[in-house]
Amino acid sequence: MSKKQPQLQIDSHSQWVPQNGRPLIIAGPCSAESEEQVLNTARKLKDIHGVTVFRAGVWKPRTRPNAFEGMGVPALQWLKTVKQETGLLTAVEVANTNHVYEALKFGIDVLWIGARTTANPFSVQDVADALKGVDVPVWVKNPVNPDLQLWIGALERLNNAGIKRLGAIHRGFSTYDKTHYRNAPKWDIPIELKRLIPDMPVICDPSHIAGTRDLISDLSQKALDLAMNGLMIETHIDPANALSDAAQQLDPAGLDSLLNELTFRKTSGDGQDAENLLNAYRNEIDVTDHQIMEMIFRRHDIVSKIAQYKIDHNMTILQVNRWKELLEDRLEQARQAGVDEDVVKDIFQIIHNGSIRLQSRLMNQEVAAVDESH
Ligand code: PEP
Ligand code: MN
Repeated sequence: MSKKQPQLQIDSHSQWVPQNGRPLIIAGPCSAESEEQVLNTARKLKDIHGVTVFRAGVWKPRTRPNAFEGMGVPALQWLKTVKQETGLLTAVEVANTNHVYEALKFGIDVLWIGARTTANPFSVQDVADALKGVDVPVWVKNPVNPDLQLWIGALERLNNAGIKRLGAIHRGFSTYDKTHYRNAPKWDIPIELKRLIPDMPVICDPSHIAGTRDLISDLSQKALDLAMNGLMIETHIDPANALSDAAQQLDPAGLDSLLNELTFRKTSGDGQDAENLLNAYRNEIDVTDHQIMEMIFRRHDIVSKIAQYKIDHNMTILQVNRWKELLEDRLEQARQAGVDEDVVKDIFQIIHNGSIRLQSRLMNQEVAAVDESH
């Protein structure tokens, strides 16, 4: 697997995503179900401050067959009417060449690639090939599985096809263990994506992370606090009777109050004083990180000595009781200090894995050296 730094050419100067201002808000139903449902929803959304793009699924990827699979091509005409009547831009999900061809034929303004499609490089390449020479904004949802490289790969395929108005949508990740989210947010993944491709806008789809309406507001705030550039929120004129994703859709009034309650923070502070204070804190963080690095190096030296002892005494690398006691002790310290135990546990698991890796390497070197001397 290639992990080289992605080199994408993103159009960051155009007006397609608000810069340094309010976030891009894409709203609309999970699925276009009827002309009436689409138009009634859109008429309400056009009056909500900030909503500029109307979404609706026209071809729906369903987990099991015989579920509602979308209205297909006739629904594209309804979206065309939405645009003519409300002035909202329209967005649909495309998963194959034919979807792209039909959506463009009906003048759809914005396309997105769904999570199941992103997980399949053949499908992404098909969509990318169909888009060669077309200048349309494309948003790529994260793959259903938490694989950042697969997400980047899909973005690269579209970018290679010439798509420069390109962005990513964080919609959470499928996990085997059930959490209270439909899809685990795993915020570190979109953060790492932003670090690797800083010019590319990343927005959040809190609806598919949440799975239920009541979690959407907190997730939206969190996404904005993480400097995401917008939100895609499923909104239906009559959510309870929606043909797909009924539990997670808001009604237009619900969306309006959610947007009104959000706090929009700036990516930079207010004036020189705030900036100075932030810089002072950042210096402190730099100093602390240096100390942590020194400690990591010191620990490395001690682990090397322990490895030598184990080699000399023919002992196993993993000493399970010692590891259990060590972790319990560190967690107890975290509890007493009022620091999140899960964070401390994650850190010590990484430290311990590193220690095991180092000891294995030293033990293998020793074995190789002994073999050679025979
Ligand atoms: C959707 O946006 O309705 C959808 C199917 O989302 P996802 O691809 O994220 O599951
Ligand atoms: Mn949906």
